[in-house]
Amino acid sequence: MAEHSGRTAKIWRDGAIVDWADANIHVMSHVVHYGSAVFEGMRSYETPRGGAVFRLREHMRRLHESAKIYELPLRWSVDELCQATVDTLVANDLAHCYIRPVVVRTGEEMGIHAHGQPVETFIICWHWGRNYLPHVQPEGGARCCVSSWRRAAPNTFPTMAKASGNYLNAQLAKAEALRNGYDEAIMLDIAGNVAEGSGQNLFLVRDGVLLTPPIAGGILHGITRDAVMRIAADFDLTVREIEIPREMLYVADEAFFCGTAAEVTPIVAIDKYSIGTGKPGPIATRIRERFMAVVTGRAPDTHGWLTHVPVSVAAGSK
Ligand code: PMP
Repeated sequence: MAEHSGRTAKIWRDGAIVDWADANIHVMSHVVHYGSAVFEGMRSYETPRGGAVFRLREHMRRLHESAKIYELPLRWSVDELCQATVDTLVANDLAHCYIRPVVVRTGEEMGIHAHGQPVETFIICWHWGRNYLPHVQPEGGARCCVSSWRRAAPNTFPTMAKASGNYLNAQLAKAEALRNGYDEAIMLDIAGNVAEGSGQNLFLVRDGVLLTPPIAGGILHGITRDAVMRIAADFDLTVREIEIPREMLYVADEAFFCGTAAEVTPIVAIDKYSIGTGKPGPIATRIRERFMAVVTGRAPDTHGWLTHVPVSVAAGSK
């Protein structure tokens, strides 16, 4: 096992808990050649009551929607997939981890049209720390660039589907950002308006109002994005889903990313322009603190976001 590996012991594979090494697929699998897979990313947090998966049902619902869009016959219901996730966490005795359900088209079909070929579902737990963006402390903030790579235009790749193929575009943007010394990329849509990060949604704050691009703007309709909107409403803050011109990034009072892996991460610079004071802003910080308090069970779960999992906290914190 590599030193930095996030590997865990057990993987759920179509109803069975198997060893890590046995969760393999063949090189002729359709997904290897044509990207025919949909997936999710979730987190389980350590709370005083054991593990807790954040918005499990919403993630499994989105997995079903992604599979529907691509006509991948997912044979497990949302309820079954939720139970399978709990079973996988228990099998690994993990409280704190990242969780990756993935539905892949396997079978041996050389052509692009693979309907009728098998589809397999896996749920993988992965040791992933809090800090998704390398070298970025969430309290410190991310330094970003606007990517030269655009998001796919509407009606090309469906962005409501969290499909593996979409992430080729995201990989280009992320690699360019890192190559040029930034922490993360901000991508524009085909019209040149702000879309999102390579794997996170984006909010700006201007005059105390939160601004975020609409779902039709080539973004994934993030589940953390929705949680941020609800937390903002709890704080009596106004949120507007509007088209955001690129230059609005540079003159915003605050900016932050949100997503399962990134959680809520303030952005302190974009294209080397300082955002606001050049430090994490007060609204981003307040939302981040509330978000982290709820997911770790330190604040009441008033929105019913957590699915508690009976695992030993001591083992999960290893
Ligand atoms: N946009 C993209 C492209 C993503 O990959 C993700 C991560 N799933 C997000 C946004 C954030 O979505 P969520 O909050 O549901 O994780």
